[in-house]
Order: sequence, then C-alpha cells, then structure tokens
Amino acid sequence: MTWVERNREQIEKIRIYLAGFREAKPPVFDWFQGGKDPLFPYAPESDRGTALLLCFCALYQGIQAEKLIRVLAYLFKEYGNDFFRLSKLPFDDLQARMDRLTDLRNWEIAPKAPGILRSVSDFFFKHGRLGPWVMAQADGEETVRVLCEEIFMMGKTSALKSKPRYFLWLLTQLPGGEPSRFWTSHTLLPITPGHLRFLREFGPLKGRKHSPWVTPEEKLAYCNRFYRMLAPENPWSVYAPLDAYLKPNGFTERRPSHPDPSTLSKAGTGFPFSGLPGSVLDAVQESERKWLCRDILGGCLQCPLAPDCPGREEL
Ligand code: SF4
Repeated sequence: MTWVERNREQIEKIRIYLAGFREAKPPVFDWFQGGKDPLFPYAPESDRGTALLLCFCALYQGIQAEKLIRVLAYLFKEYGNDFFRLSKLPFDDLQARMDRLTDLRNWEIAPKAPGILRSVSDFFFKHGRLGPWVMAQADGEETVRVLCEEIFMMGKTSALKSKPRYFLWLLTQLPGGEPSRFWTSHTLLPITPGHLRFLREFGPLKGRKHSPWVTPEEKLAYCNRFYRMLAPENPWSVYAPLDAYLKPNGFTERRPSHPDPSTLSKAGTGFPFSGLPGSVLDAVQESERKWLCRDILGGCLQCPLAPDCPGREEL
C-alpha cells in the first residue's frame, strides 16, 4: 500500500486544516494598502504594488521580511515613484542612499542590492505591467525561467529558484489574481522550513531517518507531489498553511523563509533543522512557541491536527 492509501483519514484531516487558511493573506500584504501596517500607498494587486512585490522577492535573501520591507519603504520615501525607474537614475546616488543604512552590515547581499533593484527596474521597462505579462506567459515555469534569466541574483544558478517561485505564489494570493490562468500542471511551489516541518510530522517523511531525495531538484519535485496530492485543483493553496506550521509568529522566524541560492546545494539536500530522528521541536526554543498556524486558526482547539501535533497548546 502507498502512503496515500494508508493515510486516507490523515489526509482528510490535513485538508480540513488547509481550509482553515482560506481567508489568510500573505503577511507581506500587511504593509500595503488594505493591510494592517501600510507603508506604501498601493494595494498589492495594483501595478505598482505588484512591482514592489517583485522588488521584495528579488531581495528576500538572508534578511528578515520586516527589515527588508523597511529598506524598500525608505527607498520609496527617498525616490517616490522614481523608485520604479532606478535603472535610469545615477547608480552612485542609489549606492550612497543604501550606504546610509548602517544596520544592514550583516546582510550578505547588501552590496549587491542596488544592482538587483536596477535589474528589476530594467525588467519593468522591458515587460511593462507584471500582471498582464504573467497572464500572457500562461505558464508558471516559463515565468520562473524568464525572471531568473533577466533579473540579477533572482536564481539563475539555483536549483530551487525560490525567489521567483515565491513571487509567483504571491500573485496567486492577489484579489482577482486568477491563478489558474498561469499555474500550469508542472508549476512548482517553493519549499520553506514550515513545509518540511509539516512533512516530517504529518506527511510521508514521518519516522524516516533519511530524506528520500538526493538532489535539490528531487527534493522540490517530492514536496510538490505532496502539495498536488493534497490540493490537485489549486496546489498553490497548500503553501501558506504548511509554511505557517509551527512558524514563530510575528514574521520572526530566525532564518529567512527561503535559503540563500548560493548555498542551495547544501540547503537543498538536507532538512532545515538538525535533529533527525527526533521531535520536530528539537531545534525551536521554548520561548518561541507561539505559532503562526495557531494564530490564523484561532487556537489549537479549532485545529483538526491537534491530537497529533507536538506544538499544540496545552489546555
Ligand atoms: S500548533 Fe496548534 S494550530 Fe498549529 S498545527 Fe499544532 S495544533 Fe494545529
């Protein structure tokens, strides 16, 4: 019997867990119009909102999301709508403005950030409005390929290509986004630490001492088969619920959601936390046990996975 055949009841519980996230929006939308803490005067689904999301994804590497969004808000305040045409403005000036941000010294790609932003700006000039451009591609994997090819540090040499995949997923979450027009049967979601925690606790990795993949590409394919099995009609809907699983809330996971593409050969073949075999909580400090999944579902009492979840609230 396959894992799916042996675990039909469990799969139904997981699908109920997924349904609890239907109304949840990506935390990054909180900083746009309509969100809890807007820093930009655009809704995420507007042309400029979507363009800012692409800037965010291109730079989302080795830095916490909150810090990155504040870098973008600072530059937006400095440039106004010229922010979207940085490739046409003096490079030295952009570098000087970035250099004023002294708390970015530990951000390993900080020296490359001005070049990345100018490359994204070139992309806007070449392709115009992102929403219609993605719809015209009508193929998520082709969109990922072009983003990697044309934007500096977007993942051209990465096996997982997490940045463009995350951007594509964000597009599925926009009001009126119509993901079925660009999410084809071979389009892949990125993998996050929460996804792997979930697979180890409720999925086919439970009890396994060794990962069933060798290469990062096999890892990506393996995880995506699981997502697609759970939600064949809309696999993108699996991303947020699994990502939120035992994720310290407040957007404060100690490592960024996506691995650094330059270290993907290492990050791509192992588990995100050491401690296999053992509890999924081994690597998480007691003081951080305030989870995003719990917040979104309104507490563990509402959660169909609570009886088997090592992170459930003790009542
Ligand atoms: S921590 Fe609570 S809400 Fe999250 S999966 Fe476990 S039981 Fe469900």
